[in-house]
Amino acid sequence: SLCYLNGRYQPLDEARVSPMDRGFLFGDGAYEVIPVYSRHPFRLEEHVARLESTLASIRLPNPHRPDEWAAIIREVIDRNVWEDQSVYLQVSRGADDKRNHAFPKVVRPTVFLMSEQLITPPDYQREEGVACVSAADFRWLRCDLKTVALLANCLLRQHAIDQGCVETVLFRDGFLTEGSSSNIFMVKDGVVLTPPKSHLMLPGITYDVVLELAVSHGLKHEVREILEDEVRHADELWMTSSTKEVLPITRLDDKAVGNGRPGPLGQQMYAWYQDFKNTVMRS
Ligand code: PLP
Repeated sequence: SLCYLNGRYQPLDEARVSPMDRGFLFGDGAYEVIPVYSRHPFRLEEHVARLESTLASIRLPNPHRPDEWAAIIREVIDRNVWEDQSVYLQVSRGADDKRNHAFPKVVRPTVFLMSEQLITPPDYQREEGVACVSAADFRWLRCDLKTVALLANCLLRQHAIDQGCVETVLFRDGFLTEGSSSNIFMVKDGVVLTPPKSHLMLPGITYDVVLELAVSHGLKHEVREILEDEVRHADELWMTSSTKEVLPITRLDDKAVGNGRPGPLGQQMYAWYQDFKNTVMRS
């Protein structure tokens, strides 16, 4: 596939970055994953805005204006073969001549984009729901930043895979935060619940879309802190992300969620999400 590295479009297997790059040595960088449907990037402005916000928080000057980012992203999409893609974008604080935790005097950021075919969950996962495990959220206290230092997220995801599950649902101090690479929603007595944005979770683009859809369709919902015990007695549990969209969780730690089947509100939300995608793509 075709990628972009520091101003050049080139085959991915020819792209080279220095081993002195701070993205490699320290995980010092920011990233985004943008879903592309029928060659249209979904919620592009929101992804570019979240990147801007992460870069500002880690004091890494944004190398591009929003219109420049949009142009590069569109070019990467055009140069790849798939109709539906997942565009990965990363900005690191570049390479220095010595390994030094402190920022280089002159920062030349490394800008990298690549694209893969977008793979959304298979039909059997939507129809049956997926199994998840839970774990204590041992990540740092800036989970609101989309940075490339993802070791904790990798360990937490592998914890699920090792048990034949797809995702780990995280609790911190007795409260739900999110998944290792997703946000979590639950339903109790017809009300959709999800935790409020804070430094303890990533402000998901899909999370925002789901809440907007709940508002526009008049679905009862509350954004508030959720106790672990409430999650364990939920009628429905969903995970949301740009690539998972809205996916029902039907088992948690080997116990059925609700009646063990995908629930009606999750299926409704998934249908609204598909409609929304389609209307945005056509406009
Ligand atoms: N939370 C974490 C930790 C993530 O890594 C992700 C994205 O993969 C999400 C939530 C969902 O965010 P989005 O809906 O923007 O893909």
